[in-house]
Amino acid sequence: MNIAVLSGKGGTGKTTVSTNISLALNANYIDCDVEEPNGFLFLQPNIDKIKSVWVEYPDIEYDKCTGCGECVKNCNFNALIKIKDEIMVFDKLCHSCGACEIVCKSNAIKYNLRDIGKIEEGKTSEIKCTRGILNIGEPMAVPIIKKVLSSMENDINIIDCPPGTSCNVVNSLKYADMAILVTEPTQFGIHDLKMAVELVRMFDIPFGIVINKDNKENNIARRYCEDEKIDIIGSIPYSKDIAKVYSRGEILYEDFKYKSVFDEIAQSIKGVLSWN
Ligand code: SF4
Ligand code: SF4
Repeated sequence: MNIAVLSGKGGTGKTTVSTNISLALNANYIDCDVEEPNGFLFLQPNIDKIKSVWVEYPDIEYDKCTGCGECVKNCNFNALIKIKDEIMVFDKLCHSCGACEIVCKSNAIKYNLRDIGKIEEGKTSEIKCTRGILNIGEPMAVPIIKKVLSSMENDINIIDCPPGTSCNVVNSLKYADMAILVTEPTQFGIHDLKMAVELVRMFDIPFGIVINKDNKENNIARRYCEDEKIDIIGSIPYSKDIAKVYSRGEILYEDFKYKSVFDEIAQSIKGVLSWN
């Protein structure tokens, strides 16, 4: 059972919900926000495994290359260009699709490996925590996200998705059985939530919304959910104290004042999924 937690925009409380729900459900925490994986700052797991992530990129053997340009024509990602008769490789644009090697009749293309980041695993409070970390300057997060998600256990997994609705989020959602969308009752929050809702509906999986910084009034987020007939599965109050707990890097679930907030969300999730 994989539950993706996403938000149309960054800074709405996606990691707050993901980390605390992992504790409330006693579920594995998977941080796929590989450009800024900050869930471990709160969960503080003891990291016991680190694996590098490598991707392939083409290496031209110039003594075999005839300069025919077929590889350039067939690269959909502009990772190859031909300058006079020589092929130049932009390794960071390469998606490791293998097309250039297939079309090269001179067998002039081999592959090299580039280290693009790592995966860390550890444990805290008996829950397993995994995060992907993309190296600074690397443009492609998807290979790390795929690696993190393909190694998930057959268990309850909370996937802390990247922010936005980019292909990084799409790749995270491919593994999800359910989604939690985190929003805040502001015009910006709703604008980006609408895109996230559209995306999740394309995947045709059950989903619900958690409103962060909720003043419980008839706010813009509540009105949107009502109009769209979307379940509100939880609400985190608008509170200076919560902001202070967060800024100290503490876990809200461990504070008796806020534990019930996440226990209620956990119960709602079970309802949405018809768990026993
Ligand atoms: S397809 Fe092969 S031979 Fe042709 S330019 Fe590319 S590497 Fe060289
Ligand atoms: S492997 Fe694919 S993306 Fe990379 S250079 Fe070759 S054709 Fe382009």
